[in-house]
Amino acid sequence: MIQTKGYAAQNAKTDLAPWKFERREVGAHDVQFDIAYCGVCHSDLHQIRNDWSEGIFPMVPGHEIVGKIVKVGSKVKKFKVGDLAGTGCLVDSCRTCSNCKEGLEQYCLNGSTATYNSLEQDKKTPTYGGYSNTIVVHEDFVLHISKKLNLAATAPLLCAGITTYSPLKHWRVGKGHKLAVLGLGGLGHMAVKFGVAFGAEVTVLSTSPMKEGDAGKLGAHKFVVTSDPEQLQKVKGYFDFILDTVSAPHDLNLYLSLLKTNGVHICVGVPPTPYQLHAFSLIGGRKSLVGSLIGGLPETQEMLDLCAKYNITADIELIDIKDIHAAYKRMLKGDVRYRFVIDMATL
Ligand code: NAP
Ligand code: ZN
Ligand code: ZN
Repeated sequence: MIQTKGYAAQNAKTDLAPWKFERREVGAHDVQFDIAYCGVCHSDLHQIRNDWSEGIFPMVPGHEIVGKIVKVGSKVKKFKVGDLAGTGCLVDSCRTCSNCKEGLEQYCLNGSTATYNSLEQDKKTPTYGGYSNTIVVHEDFVLHISKKLNLAATAPLLCAGITTYSPLKHWRVGKGHKLAVLGLGGLGHMAVKFGVAFGAEVTVLSTSPMKEGDAGKLGAHKFVVTSDPEQLQKVKGYFDFILDTVSAPHDLNLYLSLLKTNGVHICVGVPPTPYQLHAFSLIGGRKSLVGSLIGGLPETQEMLDLCAKYNITADIELIDIKDIHAAYKRMLKGDVRYRFVIDMATL
């Protein structure tokens, strides 16, 4: 077994603290890479606090993982020692169901294996995430990372990047569309970058008036403060799409009123409590309320390759691991500029 250092929550009420654990030896199809950087997703915070469901503890969060390969198994074909590598939210799936065969491993019909707070395909071995010094992953769930991009700023592409890229591609958001990005945090700021790259007119809908300047720098064409009724009134019935990245409870009925007839509200944010939806919010305008979960392996690689080609990365604040709780506190206040990334050398 490989002795591993990480930061773990021992239960839903304790802070993260240093913890030692073991990872499996590198199997024939496995890749081991030493983790250089790991992004901090709001999902990390939801899961260590049991916001969604009973977690598996001790829990080592982290699913925006990049680093350098130190060992490959005898049958590994796609990677070699010294290559840069990345792993996002998935480390395995059944590989046999129709969704897996289509490269939609995130929707595996037999239950995919998430990078942490999850069980391996044997349905009994827990997985531990990227707030740690090294990781062993089957090569099919390892992504190629370009040397052209800043490595720390590439880490958030593995979750915030693909989670916003995938629905924008699926619903073919682009030229001629008016796209609203609801919430300017980790996911939101990547959604702005991709929306602009795909040719849409992008408006940021935000609770934080002080983010207006940043939204413009990210490429957004308009900025609306959602607590200001006058500003909201101006965008009633205006958008073709809303990409909702908000992590806290909010009123869907209000935002649905900002869509045009046939408009689509795409949920990617996962607040801890269920939404309350009035049927009139949808039927008065034939509107769609849809959702999307991260992205499969082929699409994640496609996104990473496009980001390398067009020089797209996240805007990050690099932190020491000991500052993770301060980062979580800021995240809860909506004060993320626009992704915290942990420098794993500080572990
Ligand atoms: P984040 O960086 O904390 O950003 C969330 C943003 O939501 C905040 O910056 C804030 O932006 C806005 N917000 C917060 N509270 C709000 C409220 N009460 N009302 C309105 N807006 C509010 O979080 P993230 O990492 O981007 O993640 C966002 C959500 O997506 C989380 O729930 C996360 O679990 C989920 N997620 C889903 C997937 C998926 O596959 N679907 C993948 C990753 C993450 P403003 O200051 O601009 O208002
Ligand atoms: Zn995430
Ligand atoms: Zn499957």
